[in-house]
Amino acid sequence: MIKKSAIIIFGPPNSGKGTQARLLAEKLDFFHFISSQICKHYMQTHDDPETIRQKELYAKGILLDSAWVFRIAKRKTQEIFDQSKGIVYDGSLRILYEAERFYPFLVDLFGKENIKIVEIKVDEEELRKRSAKRLICEKDSSHVFILSEELQPGTPCPEGDGVLQKRDIDDESLFRTRMDEYNERTIPGLDFLKNKHPVIEVNGEQSILKVHQDILLALKLT
Ligand SMILES: [Zn+2]
Repeated sequence: MIKKSAIIIFGPPNSGKGTQARLLAEKLDFFHFISSQICKHYMQTHDDPETIRQKELYAKGILLDSAWVFRIAKRKTQEIFDQSKGIVYDGSLRILYEAERFYPFLVDLFGKENIKIVEIKVDEEELRKRSAKRLICEKDSSHVFILSEELQPGTPCPEGDGVLQKRDIDDESLFRTRMDEYNERTIPGLDFLKNKHPVIEVNGEQSILKVHQDILLALKLT
């Protein structure tokens, strides 16, 4: 490995997927690809008719058009690839629609052998417990921490930017909704990929550091 590789991290809500993607990107000096952030940035910096339509959807809280998201993700991926940089994809690019189209695109660009797919496995009961204890940075949603004596709502983010908060999305009923969405939308995308590509499973029920080390080990990067 691996200047030009694509690593895709899958995991259910609260599995630590975002944290692991960030740690991995830092470790490898890869681009940390969060499609929601990339779409948001694109909307802020473009004014063509199609983007204006997406901005209207976004303002109403309606899900962005998948075909548009896919186009933006492709464009950004190409841009980073052209800089000879690798990419860590944080989660699915909005799922099966994207998997079916995005995977062949990545294969063409990076070559199959340079694509690694990692699935972080965590039992649902453990995920439920974690959802009650999550703190998220107000400035950067990839900064996720677990409630502890040192880390409370209102504590400065250890990454040095914002303040940590509990998110409404972590409420019990919303947890159920996010799990259902994961099972109904992400799992089919992951199954689709499993038929085409080896998927490395990592035990997510360990400390953040241990999970990170296991991922490096599985990617043969230690
Ligand atoms: Zn932060």
